[in-house]
Amino acid sequence: MLQGKTAIVTGSTSGIGLGIARALAGAGANLMLNGFGDPEQIEALRSGLAREFGVKVAYSGADISKPEQIRAMVGAALDELGSADILVNNAGIQFTAPVESFPPERWDAVLAINLSSVFHAIQAALPKMKARNWGRIINIASTHGLVASVEKSAYVAAKHGVLGLTKVVALETATTGVTCNAICPGWVLTPLVQQQIEARAEREGISVVQAKSDLLAEKQPSGEFATPEQIGAFCVFLCSESAAQIRGAALPVDGGWLAQ
Ligand code: NAD
Repeated sequence: MLQGKTAIVTGSTSGIGLGIARALAGAGANLMLNGFGDPEQIEALRSGLAREFGVKVAYSGADISKPEQIRAMVGAALDELGSADILVNNAGIQFTAPVESFPPERWDAVLAINLSSVFHAIQAALPKMKARNWGRIINIASTHGLVASVEKSAYVAAKHGVLGLTKVVALETATTGVTCNAICPGWVLTPLVQQQIEARAEREGISVVQAKSDLLAEKQPSGEFATPEQIGAFCVFLCSESAAQIRGAALPVDGGWLAQ
């Protein structure tokens, strides 16, 4: 379905981004991977995906807190893979602390990586999408784009911002073949959440297994994690013709979190 298209997936060396990259490659898209990690492992990942799915896979080590590196990553996709038709803004970080003691430099980092990067990547990629009159922009927001939790001021502010930006871009592209939407995952068991589970186990003096089940019980009525594979499959659907009139939406994959 996506043969001949190229997808940039930020933060695709781990977790949800990797699940999305695998699903898009499985549908035939060439990939621009991005994210941090051990260079040898990233090269093994890059060549492994190319072999497994028979698509072209490039890698950019862009630090997406840096606008000029984002522009270079989009430029590299155009140069090395020929186009940048699908942009998945996925990279993100978390930091938790009460607002009074939230370190200002952590606020700046969360806002730069989780929100400003989405603006810079869209600004760099959109002109070529509009010129071809086809494009898909998918922003990985969060349930925290719509509701809050304690001690996540920067993350919740950034994810609410991502939903606002998604709507504006959807309106500005409404009469074109480019769509812009956000996915709002609930809990997905990735390194980002594993850290929060381990911190909770330590803080409350409980086992990691108990902390995991408490975390789910508190927010996610299904009692189960959503998976990177499910979010990847949803991205493939959003890239299909069937999804061409889904525009500016905040789409939950959250085990019922937002239904409460
Ligand atoms: P993760 O920590 O497993 O992966 C994050 C990825 O982003 C990694 O590849 C990392 O290298 C990359 N990254 C981090 N900082 C970067 C930077 N400055 N430049 C380039 N790459 C950078 O996290 P995840 O859980 O897969 O989260 C992915 C996205 O999904 C994030 O935006 C997160 O907010 C969102 N999300 C996650 C959950 C969850 O439960 N895991 C829930 C809702 C939303």
